[in-house]
Amino acid sequence: MRLLVADHPLVAHKLTALRDERTDSPTFRRLADELVTLLAYEATRDVRTEQVDVVTPVAPTRGTRMAMPKPLVVPILRAGLGMLDGMTRLVPTAEVGFLGMIRDEETLLATTYATRLPDDLTGRQCYLLDPMLATGGTLSAAIRYLVERGADHITAICLLAAPEGVQRVDEETSGLGVPVTVVTAGLDERLNDKGYIVPGLGDAGDRLYGVVS
Ligand code: URA
Repeated sequence: MRLLVADHPLVAHKLTALRDERTDSPTFRRLADELVTLLAYEATRDVRTEQVDVVTPVAPTRGTRMAMPKPLVVPILRAGLGMLDGMTRLVPTAEVGFLGMIRDEETLLATTYATRLPDDLTGRQCYLLDPMLATGGTLSAAIRYLVERGADHITAICLLAAPEGVQRVDEETSGLGVPVTVVTAGLDERLNDKGYIVPGLGDAGDRLYGVVS
């Protein structure tokens, strides 16, 4: 697994504002959206392209366009939804699938509760959106799910990552035979005993959408 921690002053600035406990939900959503667009620029560096002929008002030349099949963007519900607009703004022609996964707060195990994805992902480049790479259980399960359906290139975009989660995703995906990249705005210190990233930014879903009891 390849880990790419974005090294850019704008990313650091927006991430700091996201972390701030005083940042309200509307501002948090806007910052997350802007941050994802910056991360998406890095994350799509390996997007598949092909050469095409193009005629400018001045002369014919060769250019580049994204190859088929189109990349598939997959937000992991619920918090990944807050990253979708920022991603599709940069890659508007991508298709979008949905993966609903929930983490049991006692066992910290991830289970799938909803999917809306093409049955066959053969040859697809997939971009998973999940704001917090904490224990790595959810992201590892999501990557396995996509690879079992044929995806042959996976990039996960996470706002924040914990070393424990990075290590687990690395261990659990190394045998899948598919290149996996994690792109994140920050690699934090550790997880606490509740599985939260420290210092982190709290519960990303709650901060995006408010607490649902
Ligand atoms: N999920 C979150 O929303 N925050 C964390 O810190 C860990 C998992």
